[in-house]
Amino acid sequence: MQIQRILVIGAGTMGRQIAMSAALAGYNTTLNDISGEALKAAGRELDKWAAGRVAKGKLTQADADAALARLERSTDLDAAAGNADLVIEAAVEKLEVKKALFEQLGRSTPAHAILATNSSTLASSHVAQASGRPDLVCNMHFFNPALVMKCVEVVRNEHTSDATVEAVMQVARAMGKDPVLVQKEVPGFVANRMMGALQREALELAANGVASFLDIDTTAKTALGHPMGPFELMDLVGIDVIDFIAQATYAETGDAADKPHPLIAEKVAEGRLGRKSGAGFYDYS
Ligand code: NAD
Repeated sequence: MQIQRILVIGAGTMGRQIAMSAALAGYNTTLNDISGEALKAAGRELDKWAAGRVAKGKLTQADADAALARLERSTDLDAAAGNADLVIEAAVEKLEVKKALFEQLGRSTPAHAILATNSSTLASSHVAQASGRPDLVCNMHFFNPALVMKCVEVVRNEHTSDATVEAVMQVARAMGKDPVLVQKEVPGFVANRMMGALQREALELAANGVASFLDIDTTAKTALGHPMGPFELMDLVGIDVIDFIAQATYAETGDAADKPHPLIAEKVAEGRLGRKSGAGFYDYS
């Protein structure tokens, strides 16, 4: 399966950087959003990012210009979908929005086109049938910031074909990523599941007064070699986002171990959402 044209839907935090990764890898890329403002903001951020990389000598001016020239922006989904070989959907995390998009893509993309979702919490089987071609559907889960993070989880649903998996893994490699194959749809896939386990244990240790959150973070860094402690990471991601992921996981599994921790609910109620609100576990004022 020869992928030449990539359509990325959603020009937010993730979509804009995924689209730039695709353009840098040489794919003709279209970034789509319902919001023209989001597309403009994405263009500004990517221009600035490229200029920064050039200034640091990490990217040549010619490569930056060529990548930006390969990256189109459009609010017209049907037009952009018409010649896409691969679609990476990174729109807002709402099932009804994604279902409607996959249904529309099933009609507007060529029959051979692969349809992938970047969703962190919605497995592709939730949208696969809507597209009418479940064998060509999977999750292609990038990490934030997508231009930097090497991991891409390719998650197959029970209908995903081997050819689809291989084509998506290949695109990820062309983008300079180290893709991993997740063979079963489990909530949180692999990375967020492991991170959730660490965060749960860290929260339990702190709540039971075994060690302060500061000492738990220090231990993660000095004993386990993690670049950041679990509490620092939760502050960076956003405590409300951590809460949303925990709620979604618990709603799906019903497993008591996945229940959102009371310390998280407490922080959300206090409006201490992490770095973005000026305070979370740490104070950033
Ligand atoms: P975001 O809120 O920053 O951006 C979402 C964008 O989608 C917005 O620009 C919005 O205008 C656009 N949008 C909404 N409905 C649309 C539609 N029908 N058609 C086209 N565009 C539409 O969100 P984000 O953080 O970039 O997350 C996007 C997806 O990526 C989600 O599925 C999320 O689970 C996943 N994800 C997020 C992260 C993260 O750290 N933010 C990491 C991995 C995966």
